[in-house]
Amino acid sequence: YFANVPQAPADGILKLSVLSKADSDANKVDLGVGAYRDDSGKPWVLPVIRTAEQRVASDPNGNHEYLGVGGLPALTNGAQKLIFGADSPAISEKRVYTIQTISGTGANMVAAVFLRQFKQPADAAVYISKPTWGNHRSILQTAGHEVREYRYCNYGTLGLDIDGMLEDLRAAPRNQIILLHACAHNPTGIDPTEAQWQQIADVMAERGHFPFFDCAYQGFATGDVDKDAYAIRLFVARGFELLVAESFAKNMGLYGERTGCLHAVTKDAALVGAVSSQLNRLSRATISTASAYGAKLAGTVLQDQGLYAEWVENMGEMSRRIKDMREGLRDRLQSLGTPGDWEHVARQIGMFSFTGLSKQQVDVLRDSYHLYMTDDGRISVAGLNSGNIDYVARAIDAVVRG
Ligand code: PMP
Repeated sequence: YFANVPQAPADGILKLSVLSKADSDANKVDLGVGAYRDDSGKPWVLPVIRTAEQRVASDPNGNHEYLGVGGLPALTNGAQKLIFGADSPAISEKRVYTIQTISGTGANMVAAVFLRQFKQPADAAVYISKPTWGNHRSILQTAGHEVREYRYCNYGTLGLDIDGMLEDLRAAPRNQIILLHACAHNPTGIDPTEAQWQQIADVMAERGHFPFFDCAYQGFATGDVDKDAYAIRLFVARGFELLVAESFAKNMGLYGERTGCLHAVTKDAALVGAVSSQLNRLSRATISTASAYGAKLAGTVLQDQGLYAEWVENMGEMSRRIKDMREGLRDRLQSLGTPGDWEHVARQIGMFSFTGLSKQQVDVLRDSYHLYMTDDGRISVAGLNSGNIDYVARAIDAVVRG
């Protein structure tokens, strides 16, 4: 039976982390995996999460029962307000349904299967940005979608190719599904400005496209949860129906706890019953119920004003450190006189920087300098710290000079 099974293509990021783990050189710097590290290069448990852990552990009514099929209300209600705004008319008009998922990946998958079953027209394709998070294509194809790309990165300036993006959204057949990164685009760190989001919304409305947002970095990108939700709230205010996949992996540092949500906004409250029943059915068929522990931690933070304020501060600390590292790397490359313009490293936002280094340069950095980044030249800026940033800048400088 198994003799018919072909080898699956290797996942670039997972392969990279195996290579990096096996490298014991003292100079090694892992800029591959998208996980926050503190200035000593260690994983960081947010102080607010430490407090939530204690509260959950000491809850006299605590237990390990299954959650309901929709998930933990403290999480799903809190997540709704976080994404759409506490005063969102869509919430008060009861046009939003939120289901807890297995982090952002699970939210993407439930959304992908839901869209595969109910998309209109049935042959609509899903358009993803070029480039995008590697797992998007895999998730969408696994769910049975045809996947197409719209232009996104201007590989010359390492900024947004807004004209190419709008042109591609306009040229697509009507009523396609468009996957958009809500903020802190992975892998490029390039986001549309507010004015550009309005242009994108205009074209999407003109062409009847359906927005499917992936929001994996809210608050982590700028330290401001409202600013990072700008695009989603704009589309809701413009009257779009949409889906939002939300992850708490990065902004709460709950990576392995697999905490996330999928939100559906309908144009009419009367539609929520059927939509929620289908999302519940899909979730029941795949995970039955979502994981409880991370949901309790995140729910505790979202429901308590004091903890919420502390969380925002914790996110500010992460986004500030990342911003400092961006500017630090740019400054070092500029003072070394490294050929090229390194402004983009500071201009991009979120966890990643699309450096513009070629595959060949990435190979040399890995093989000769023990510096690990993805083949497309993406670095996880959170992997930089005061102990390795000089080494990284000198290594990049040497490789760029050839
Ligand atoms: N979407 C994007 C764009 C991401 O970068 C990530 C994390 N790498 C995810 C979704 C989902 O991650 P997780 O399943 O860990 O929440």
